[in-house]
Amino acid sequence: MSADTIFGKIIRREIPADIVYEDELCLAFRDITPQAPTHVLVIPKKPIPKLADASAEDKELLGHMLLMVKSLAEQLGIAEDGYRVVINAGTDGGQTVFHLHMHLLGGRSLQWPPG
Ligand code: AMP
Repeated sequence: MSADTIFGKIIRREIPADIVYEDELCLAFRDITPQAPTHVLVIPKKPIPKLADASAEDKELLGHMLLMVKSLAEQLGIAEDGYRVVINAGTDGGQTVFHLHMHLLGGRSLQWPPG
């Protein structure tokens, strides 16, 4: 069992979040420190700490999350102009909250490479 995180508290509604989508497997909410006009986090309800902890049994869940990102981009009006999907994986990847999440960023032209 992984350690609880702030995202676990959001899933259990112990702290507030601006939730934009929820289903039985996942939750999507706006990032509290947005790095783009649209910045949404998609998290699994299953507490997988980081991508390296995902396994073959999570295959369907990970695919579900990615398709959710695609749908959210359409719903939030950024699909046509384009957007970026980011997973910060582990400390050197810049991960700060150890509950797996996908960042959906859009609404402006994004630079490459990231820092
Ligand atoms: P990462 O650095 O990839 O682990 O991303 C963690 C993200 O969670 C950051 O972009 C934070 O701004 C965001 N974050 C942290 N706490 C909250 C919160 N309570 N509600 C929404 N987003 C949060």
